[in-house]
This record gives sequence, structure tokens and C-alpha cells, in this order.
Amino acid sequence: MRIIVHKTKCQGHARCSAQAPDVFKLDDEGYILPGDIEVAEGQQLLASRGARSCPERALELDPTPAARVVPDAIEPRVWRA
Ligand code: SF4
Repeated sequence: MRIIVHKTKCQGHARCSAQAPDVFKLDDEGYILPGDIEVAEGQQLLASRGARSCPERALELDPTPAARVVPDAIEPRVWRA
């Protein structure tokens, strides 16, 4: 599972870090650090709770990061009538 961090939406409420301090790291002013977060197996429940607790919707759950990978070896299909 991955969490997409929308840094510009963060208002520094720190609710995410209160739920899962090992997952959500904040800067000195209480704002989420930039960059998406790859969540370890054992931390997924807490990470999910933390992301859902964000009132600014700054944390987006992405349960299928592999689906975002577009293989470049696949040829586009051409449909003919
Ligand atoms: S709960 Fe949301 S707004 Fe608050 S620090 Fe975390 S990401 Fe930022």
C-alpha cells in the first residue's frame, strides 16, 4: 500500500502522526514531509486510519501501486472494422 501525500493541502493538524507516528513524519512546524509513503505490511491498518483522519484530505490511499506502472513493451491495439 502506498499513501500519496498532497503536501500543499496539509495544514499541520498532526492527526495523521497521532494515529501512526512511525508512518507519518512531520517537520518542525507540524506539517507532513513531502513525498509519497510506501507502507510496510504490519503498519497498513494504522496508516489507513491516519490517512483517513486528515481533515484536509491531504493523504490519499493507493492500495494498488503496481497498477500505476505502465509497461512500455505493450503495443497499442488498432481496431479495424
Ligand atoms: S493530518 Fe493532514 S493536515 Fe494534519 S499534518 Fe497530517 S497531512 Fe497535514
